[in-house]
Amino acid sequence: GEQFNGKKVLVLGMAKSGEAAARLLHRLGATVIVNDALPYEGNRQAQELEKLGIQVICGHHPIELLDESFDYVVKNPGIPYSNPIVEGALKQGLVVVTEIELASMLSEAEIIAITGSNGKTTTTTLIYEMLKDGILQPLIAGNIGTVACEVAENATENHVMVLEVSSFQLLGTEQFRPKVSVLLNIFDAHLDYHGTKDEYVEAKAKITANQQKDDILIFNTDDKFVSQIASKSKATTIPFSANQRLTEGLFIENETIYFNKQPIIQTSEIVLPGAHNLENILAAIGAAITMGAKQERIKDVLMTFSGVEHRLQFILDFNGRRFYNDSKATNILASKKALEAFDQPIVLLAGGLDRGNNFDDLRASLKNVHTLVTFGQTKDKLTKVAKEAGVKSIIVADLMEDAVQKAFDQSNEGDVILLSPACASWDQYKTFEERGERFINAVQKLSTI
Ligand code: ADP
Repeated sequence: GEQFNGKKVLVLGMAKSGEAAARLLHRLGATVIVNDALPYEGNRQAQELEKLGIQVICGHHPIELLDESFDYVVKNPGIPYSNPIVEGALKQGLVVVTEIELASMLSEAEIIAITGSNGKTTTTTLIYEMLKDGILQPLIAGNIGTVACEVAENATENHVMVLEVSSFQLLGTEQFRPKVSVLLNIFDAHLDYHGTKDEYVEAKAKITANQQKDDILIFNTDDKFVSQIASKSKATTIPFSANQRLTEGLFIENETIYFNKQPIIQTSEIVLPGAHNLENILAAIGAAITMGAKQERIKDVLMTFSGVEHRLQFILDFNGRRFYNDSKATNILASKKALEAFDQPIVLLAGGLDRGNNFDDLRASLKNVHTLVTFGQTKDKLTKVAKEAGVKSIIVADLMEDAVQKAFDQSNEGDVILLSPACASWDQYKTFEERGERFINAVQKLSTI
């Protein structure tokens, strides 16, 4: 952090990461000015920063700000590069960094960075768990919740930072160079921000853009866009595939996971359900072993880890019914993955905010569902699709407690009872987390009566 002492830094965009960056830079002895487009009135964050002696300018991004001679600009990933003040700063030749670059500048620890359209949080968490008990102490940060630069401040060479990075965070990074990068998959998503698929792919490519031969890129060889990026990378690449045998890297054969021909674990020993999770697991094993994780620890994690909260998370087994919370499934694609993860008969709890879409794409995935308990704005649409798919019983419920009770009443021994709403939660709940908590609580209550 020495390089910021006595320097002048402009932090553009407050949000969570901007506020954290401002506080940190202030602690490191920099003179910090924060500029945010939102109004000042009622802005608690702004007032807190001012108490520390940080100057805050709210309401718009005045271009005259650049008349002051800054040494660095830290930009929130949500502010586009086309914003005049960012353009102006670049024209002046200022170093414009995002918060994760600031983190990598500050961290004395090696960084493992994980990105992809889907599976980031699961893979990041797996790597973090697998690295515990190792030589280097893992720290988890980034998109997953803890702000990267705050964690980086205390990261020593005895640590390793496991960093979940979104394409928002990667876009426009100039110096970001992880020791190990993991690239999971690239689907059509987030196109509203990045404009075109090419730009989205380009943003994801930033995870390896600065890597060199002594760095590692772990990549999904079954994904066309990911493979393209890997073929251009200067890093040493390690491929993984959940679908085919490879001559090197990570793959599955005879229900055994191999890394460079070395057997690691039987897939039947893994708790985490779903074919998509096998991809996350392969990537995680590759990253963890590369950074020195012990095979015993890796096995322990895979034999016990039941999923990140709200992501196809196993809750409990009650009277022969297995309950899963997949509240994070706020779109059809995510719920399809969840439904395809089980061979058992399913009681599905689904419904929520109506975004004007239809649910036709869900129909084929409902083949194991014998009962749908539906709620929220989309209940009629889901009822229609479930009828078309031949779902035997369709029940409308009110709030989560009611839905869980009705689901249980309709279930048989051996069933999976799955909350995977295929919709956002905002019609009935504040967040998908709140919806998931309500489900977990209702399930626990039911099982203890
Ligand atoms: P992210 O952090 O990228 O949003 P998560 O690990 O939180 O990813 O998983 C969110 C949802 O994405 C999961 O519930 C699942 O439906 C889907 N998913 C997870 N991993 C994959 C994968 N490797 N491929 C496709 N879909 C996945």
